Amino acid sequence: MYLTFLGTCAGTPSLQRNVTAIALTLPAAGDWLFDCGEATQHQYMRSALKPGKLEKIFITHLHGDHIFGLPGLLTSRSMSSISQPLTVYGPAGIRAFIDNALSLSGSWVSFPLEIIEIDEGVIFDDGGYRVTAFPLSHVVPCFGYRIEQYDKPGYLDAARLKAEGIPSGPWFQQLKQGATIILPDGRHVAGRDYLGPAIKGKSVAIFGDTAPSAAGRLLAENVDVMVHETTLEAAMAEKANSRGHSTTVQAACTARDAGAKRLIATHFSSRYGTGDMPRLLAECQSVFPATELAYDFAVFEI
Ligand SMILES: [Zn+2]
Ligand SMILES: [Zn+2]
Repeated sequence: MYLTFLGTCAGTPSLQRNVTAIALTLPAAGDWLFDCGEATQHQYMRSALKPGKLEKIFITHLHGDHIFGLPGLLTSRSMSSISQPLTVYGPAGIRAFIDNALSLSGSWVSFPLEIIEIDEGVIFDDGGYRVTAFPLSHVVPCFGYRIEQYDKPGYLDAARLKAEGIPSGPWFQQLKQGATIILPDGRHVAGRDYLGPAIKGKSVAIFGDTAPSAAGRLLAENVDVMVHETTLEAAMAEKANSRGHSTTVQAACTARDAGAKRLIATHFSSRYGTGDMPRLLAECQSVFPATELAYDFAVFEI
């Protein structure tokens, strides 16, 4: 599982950073995109990601720096003859934004496009992954997304099965699922007796723009990786919070209080250049040492 940061700037882009977009690459489930700021399709081309693998887009809120890239990404995906379906999740209004942008510009998409306007709670669950939306504290309705991979059965001990004279065959698939099978010679074999410990699923919390909020702790509770905005430095808490944003230290406090294992900070004000990053990182790490800062095209393995 990988996170690829396509844009890490808040509000307006800078020469070093584009506006927000984060791709989550999931084994056997394609790529999911979280937010789609202007020129995300350009960033896509400069990354190792392939638009044809994009299956879902989750929008945190309707501010321009999080959605202005949608019409271009959708229509270019269509012009590239990609036919795989795409689902867009987002707060109320996301459907009108996409429909109006496409219809007023005389555009359309050639692939099945589903737009789902969400409320808080579980918004997706296919038995492999579950996505839960949490309402955050911003100046417009904004959600954070908790992505949880289900635990997988442990590895089948094929050597032990062989040692006990159980022949390999199509029933191995069922044994891997923990099922009990009956061999051609009549023996009953319970798969669960031959499975190692369950493989723990990964969990990721991707915040939208937000001031510190009670929901943040639940959103990121014990996650493997938490992605949180750090729009401004610690000394500018009042300004950040009055605009529905967080500081470095506030993001780090949420990570610590939620029991997150790692924090990746992103969504930095364009006032900050490369030279400011060590200072912002130090502010986060003063509270939560397991912090890393995102930058455009950074890839983090989860
Ligand atoms: Zn923003
Ligand atoms: Zn915003």
